[in-house]
Amino acid sequence: MADAAAAATLARVMVLPFPAQGHVIPLMELSRKLAGHGVEVDFVNTEFNHDLVIGSMAEKGAIPQGIHMLSVPDGLGPGDDHADIGKFVKDLPAAMSGRLEEMIRSRKIKWVIVDVSMSWALELATTAGARVASFSTYSAAVFSLRMNLPRLIEDGVLDENGNVKGQGKIQMVPPIDPAEIPWISLASTSAPERRRTNIQNVLKTNLSMPLAEVVICNTSMELEPDALPLLPNALPLGPLVAPTSRPAGHFLAEDLACLAWLDAQPPGTVVYVAFGSSGFLDATQFQELADGLELSGRPFLLVVRPNFTTGAGQDRFDLDAFKRRVEGKGLVVGWAPQQRVLSHPAVACFVSHCGWNSTMEGVLHGVPFLCWPYFADQFCNQSYACNVWGTGAKLRRDERGVVAKEEIESKVAWLLGDEGVKSRVATWKDVARGSIREGGSSHGNLLKLVSLLRQ
Ligand code: UDP
Repeated sequence: MADAAAAATLARVMVLPFPAQGHVIPLMELSRKLAGHGVEVDFVNTEFNHDLVIGSMAEKGAIPQGIHMLSVPDGLGPGDDHADIGKFVKDLPAAMSGRLEEMIRSRKIKWVIVDVSMSWALELATTAGARVASFSTYSAAVFSLRMNLPRLIEDGVLDENGNVKGQGKIQMVPPIDPAEIPWISLASTSAPERRRTNIQNVLKTNLSMPLAEVVICNTSMELEPDALPLLPNALPLGPLVAPTSRPAGHFLAEDLACLAWLDAQPPGTVVYVAFGSSGFLDATQFQELADGLELSGRPFLLVVRPNFTTGAGQDRFDLDAFKRRVEGKGLVVGWAPQQRVLSHPAVACFVSHCGWNSTMEGVLHGVPFLCWPYFADQFCNQSYACNVWGTGAKLRRDERGVVAKEEIESKVAWLLGDEGVKSRVATWKDVARGSIREGGSSHGNLLKLVSLLRQ
């Protein structure tokens, strides 16, 4: 009995995120929960991202006890662009495999939790003697769409090169157009080779998916009751929530001063605008956004990461001039403490690119969405907000492909005036909070995961 108890406390798990911000954050939150239940976590970033995470932490104690921050090289040279993931993703297995395998063996790792976008590591981990779980950074609906890609090809909806063949919506909850299938929308029609590579990569890595004993999902049974039954070994334990202080896993330092600015705004008035970690706007689009926010007549908090806008010389959007012009009405920050912003009573709505983390965070904190998706699973997440939960509205692009200032102004006014949206947002917030509360479905699944990892 004593031996069994000792073994249980020695559960050591490796967590392997894909080297992008929207992957490191939720896996860090999962790790924090596991560590809270006595599981020792080896969190393996690429060396480049490891340095960002450690460097941007406001407090050195932000990494909870029980989490060990480790790193391996990503295979790039010092002059290479580590943010251009599309370019080096194919070389990751060759760069990381040897070190990872050696770590699993030498650190006596019993389980590896592999980010779905790192599925090539499922086989490696199994070969090195570990049991494996997959972690989905996207919705259960998108995960099941992924597993169904061969069927969609068979049914003639698309071909093996990622060309859309079928018409009409794909029959799933939420409904999407074939062109919005994440691996298709990730590459434009002008990049057929990229599309082909995306689809082929999914088809190939899907084959090792059965190695995962469970698929851990940042969602809940109540939020995705149609999609989750399609994934027999899914373990939904979300929405994953960051603690209100000491967040970890961020690549940029959070601008905490915006919280004091929010404190000074009347309740339910602020438009929060953030496009996640990779979205960017060209100068024309940025100008329309800036004008639209001013036209809305509401205070706004806008996240503008370094390199968020493109263009050079005269074509460049003059951010400093804009900041000066809107001083007092709007605040621009480089990186926001997003979960704290969304839970702030001053925030009225979220203009979002609809990444899955942002989507879950908005639901959890009860904030309605204005959806501005670009690619990948963002269209599917938009469809959840607008067509299934009824908690959001789409921002439509005009004939130039631009979201115009008038569109922003009118949709903000509509969203904030609609009583139906308000009440559905409140309902889904309760649902999401209920899932993660003690006794809730997600909380129960977290306990199941902990006990599985201790076996
Ligand atoms: N985020 C943040 N501050 C910001 C913008 C984003 O903390 O100013 C966080 C956000 O809370 C979320 C993550 O970055 O957890 C972005 O993930 P998401 O899936 O929404 O988008 P991605 O970056 O993967 O496109």
